[in-house]
Amino acid sequence: MPEGLNVWRVLKGAGVKYVKFVIVDIFGRPKVEITPIDVARDAFVDGVAYDGSSIPAYSTVNKSDLVAAVDPHAVYVETWNGGKSALVFTNTLDGDKPHPMDPRNALKQTVEYVRSRGYEVKLGAEVEFFLVRGNPPSLVDNGAYFEGYPLKDSMPVIEEIIDHLYLSGIGHSKTHHEVAPSQYEVNIPAGDPVQVADQVLVFKILAKSVAQKYGVTATFMPKPFWGMNGSGMHVHVSFWRDGVNLFSSYKEPTPELKAAVAGVLENALSNSVFVAPTVNSYKRLVPHHEAPTRVVWGIGNRSVMVRIPYYGMRINRLEYRHPDPSANPYLGFAAIILAALEGVERKLEPPRPVHDVAYELEGVKETPRHLGEAVKLASEGAATRALPQPLVKAYLSLKEKEWADYLNSVGEGWEKSWNKITS
Ligand code: GLN
Ligand code: MG
Ligand code: MG
Ligand code: MG
Repeated sequence: MPEGLNVWRVLKGAGVKYVKFVIVDIFGRPKVEITPIDVARDAFVDGVAYDGSSIPAYSTVNKSDLVAAVDPHAVYVETWNGGKSALVFTNTLDGDKPHPMDPRNALKQTVEYVRSRGYEVKLGAEVEFFLVRGNPPSLVDNGAYFEGYPLKDSMPVIEEIIDHLYLSGIGHSKTHHEVAPSQYEVNIPAGDPVQVADQVLVFKILAKSVAQKYGVTATFMPKPFWGMNGSGMHVHVSFWRDGVNLFSSYKEPTPELKAAVAGVLENALSNSVFVAPTVNSYKRLVPHHEAPTRVVWGIGNRSVMVRIPYYGMRINRLEYRHPDPSANPYLGFAAIILAALEGVERKLEPPRPVHDVAYELEGVKETPRHLGEAVKLASEGAATRALPQPLVKAYLSLKEKEWADYLNSVGEGWEKSWNKITS
């Protein structure tokens, strides 16, 4: 019996009434088709049929009929809705091949490519977000880093979010109040990159759904408030061979880890548009807010772009601090993995680690100032060479348009505030 049908039977037996088939768009947004469980049976065998011309970049209106194959390994019951429905991820097909515009396909292919070069890659993500209320949004609590009590308006929301991370089978390694008021961080456990990217999407859906029940909003905007820390999505990476972590050591980073760091740094500017992809992303990458502004690395240093976590015991991974949660996790993770692989394969040497506060360091590369600059820097990297070319082309042209739209818009805040108008 096909694997998909087994999954369907278990979902039906568990009382799931609707299946939400997820198609991931080029920006990393989940698009869902809601199907009653009995009707969904066929889709588990034959795939999900949809209009590809209505999802940005997938296809044109004259060739709009697409089919997405169900991934029986990526199923999450919506426990936050009482288990009434289940999210089931798909991979869109182009005939009998993977469709080049599906970012889930692109990440799958990247992981397979790395495997063909002899490495398994493990990846984890720390997702930061704010809880806000109202319009314009205001903060829900006044807490600070690791604060727990008394946070009557936010703690019940956070605790329910954690409950559903477990109930839906994602789990989490840690959660804490972050540095800014009303800001939290959830760590998605490290594992297969496609699975972690799926779980980032599921996490965002469940965090927003739970928050809504309490009358607040969970926002993953990188810099919702000027003057306080923004929200990052730090990505932790390790490369393995035959069950051995090649980045594991007691003090001095291994040659493989150093080479991966070098690859990630070398590709950081070209990868910026993939890991920090929105206009707002660049308002986060400013000095003195624990977000990187310089393309440098260090050990136990939170002002650099690539940090090697080291608490005096073991080293086992690199932490890339450049990404934020507005990134398409599939494209962002693929770009990071390809950069690290390039470093390892070419045995690149990183520059010397930085021990000082790096925010305003002279004589080193700086993060792009804005999205327009990031789009221009994208062309020369490992990711733009290795990812499916139609996908890269469509992504960059949509990002270029986003930047142009922003430049052509008149902002409500800064531009329209009376004291900044001179005539
Ligand atoms: N919020 C910071 C960022 O934008 C990170 C803070 C931290 O994790 N220590 O990346
Ligand atoms: Mg953390
Ligand atoms: Mg954090
Ligand atoms: Mg971190």
